[in-house]
Amino acid sequence: MNLHEYQGKELFARFGMPVLPGQVAGTPEEARDIAASLGGTVVIKAQVQAGGRGKAGGVKLAHNPDEAYDKARDILALTIKGLPVHKVLVAQAADIAKEYYCAIVMDREKKAPLVMLSAEGGVDIEEVAKTAPEKIVKFHIPLEGLRSYHARNLMTPLFPDFKQASQAADILMRLYRVYMEGDCSLAEINPLAVTPEGKVIALDAKVVLDDNAEFRHKDWDNWRDPAEETPGARLAREKGLSYVKLDGDIGCVVNGAGLAMATMDVIKHYGGEPANFLDIGGSSNPEKVTAALKIITTESHVRGILFNIFGGITRCDDVANGIVASLTASPLSVPLVIRLTGTNEEKARQILNDFGLSATTSMDEAVRMVIEKAQEVGA
Ligand code: GDP
Ligand code: MN
Repeated sequence: MNLHEYQGKELFARFGMPVLPGQVAGTPEEARDIAASLGGTVVIKAQVQAGGRGKAGGVKLAHNPDEAYDKARDILALTIKGLPVHKVLVAQAADIAKEYYCAIVMDREKKAPLVMLSAEGGVDIEEVAKTAPEKIVKFHIPLEGLRSYHARNLMTPLFPDFKQASQAADILMRLYRVYMEGDCSLAEINPLAVTPEGKVIALDAKVVLDDNAEFRHKDWDNWRDPAEETPGARLAREKGLSYVKLDGDIGCVVNGAGLAMATMDVIKHYGGEPANFLDIGGSSNPEKVTAALKIITTESHVRGILFNIFGGITRCDDVANGIVASLTASPLSVPLVIRLTGTNEEKARQILNDFGLSATTSMDEAVRMVIEKAQEVGA
């Protein structure tokens, strides 16, 4: 899950990172009120999950509450890289003498977190990486963890004076705690700014949380932005289904990730396009089947739906009952093809037959059939 800047800064603040006070606003009026309560110059920042907001006109200074109102209104009307701006962060503004880059990211190749630092901050770091890679300092964090002497050794050459370097080293140690204890796969500060008085602060926050750790962070739910999640993705998450929406028109409901991948391959092999990847998992409770059908039919323009069930732990009769219950509650308007084999297959076939449905045991046949029927629907 990607966090908005204001959420990232909230996480930073929990670990004692220096960030400037601010609040999020959904309307120009709210922005004006926040600016008034903060006093002085504020910065209004679009809260969209895209980089380069500054260049796109999504970051503006305001010197008084009325100006904050105007700037917030302008920014709330923007669409940045295809993302409409629903919220702005109104924060105390900083005077900036110099901008650095500081991040910790998982390096999958080296299987270790990687610290990346640069004195060329503020701008697009990808650009620096391309044109002047020598200006990015990289350090793989060893298994025993990041130590304060690592942080000091990394920061000392980058900063002109010792006081700034030690503030930056302290920030890096805190960023490491954000990354580890916060279960992030990316924690980035760009810019890490130095004020004319020599104070070092995190002016931006980009955080990606590792969804695999969701079970130990009850508070992540509050950060989930409904505007960033489709209804299908939400339902899948709530019901514990692995779901990825694709662009095709053949909906697939499959038990097991490997079989789901294989199913998509076979659909493609016969010239069809899968509408989704969907793994209903080992259990076959009817609720999951109902949720699966709902997700597929509301999110994609499907012209056919394929159930591909290999009954091991999953009992085919449970899935059949799920299909019957679901179709009874809300009939489908597109053809349905069912392939099932394995545990309690005969029972399942009986349940489906009684309901007027049939099922095959051949995956190959089922895939060809659903593609054919989908084409009839389209024709
Ligand atoms: P991004 O472009 O999406 O990465 O957004 P940033 O939060 O990094 O802001 C872009 C740029 O706006 C920064 O590099 C700064 O130059 C400027 N900026 C952001 N906050 C402030 C602030 O408080 N005061 C000043 N003077 N400039 C700021
Ligand atoms: Mn930035």
